[in-house]
Amino acid sequence: MIGDFINLIFPNCCFICDDWLARGEKYICTSCNYHLPRTNGHKHAENDYSNRLYGRGPFEHVLAYLKFIKKGKTQRLLYHLKYENQPAVGEMLGLWYGNDLKEGGLADAFDLIVPVPLHKSKLRKRGYNQSDSFAKGLSIALDVPWESKIISRTQKSETQTRKGRMERWQNVAHIFKLTDATAVAGKRILLVDDVLTTGATLEACAMPILAGECRQISAAVIAVAQ
Ligand SMILES: [Zn+2]
Repeated sequence: MIGDFINLIFPNCCFICDDWLARGEKYICTSCNYHLPRTNGHKHAENDYSNRLYGRGPFEHVLAYLKFIKKGKTQRLLYHLKYENQPAVGEMLGLWYGNDLKEGGLADAFDLIVPVPLHKSKLRKRGYNQSDSFAKGLSIALDVPWESKIISRTQKSETQTRKGRMERWQNVAHIFKLTDATAVAGKRILLVDDVLTTGATLEACAMPILAGECRQISAAVIAVAQ
C-alpha cells in the first residue's frame, strides 16, 4: 500500500523507454525486457564474439549477455549502471544472465567469479564497481562465490575508445596484479567485465590469474560491442 502511494507521487520510470513502471516491474518495463538484444551466445559453442579472445589466452567460455549498439537499449541500461548511481541494475542483469546460463548447461561450470577491478581513483569517484554488481547477481543465480579483492589494478588505463587493437593491448598490459597468490589455484575462474570490445582488458586481467595456476578461465560480460 505504502509502496503504491509512493509510486503515485514519485513514479518509477523505465530506464530504457521512460514509461512509468507497473507494479512488479523494476528498472525496466516488461516490453523493454522482452526486446532486450540478448546474444544467446551461450547456446552455441562458438559465437560471433568469442573469436575476439582467440589468441588472447585459453578462454574456455566467452559469454556476453547483451549486444551493445550505439543509442540502443543496452547503452541506456549501462548508462544508468555506470553514471546514474544504479549498481542494482548490474545485479539484476547478473541474476537474469546467471539463470540463462544455468538453463544453458553451465550450472556447474565455474568455481569462483572475479570481476575486473577499477582503479582506486575511479572506484572512489563512482563509489562502486559496476562489474562487482554483475558478479554478485551471477553469483546468486549460479550459487558460486565471487571475490573482488583477488586482483588489483595498479595503474589507471587511458581511455580506450580511439585506440587500435595493438594500442589498446599496450595500454592495459601489466596493469593487473594478483593480490592473493593462492586464491585462484586449481579453480575454474569466471572473469567478469561490463563491456567486451577488443578483449584487451580481459586478456590483461587473465594473465595474473593464469600465472596463479587456475584450472580454467572463462569470461562473462554484460554486453559485447557490435
Ligand atoms: Zn521500457
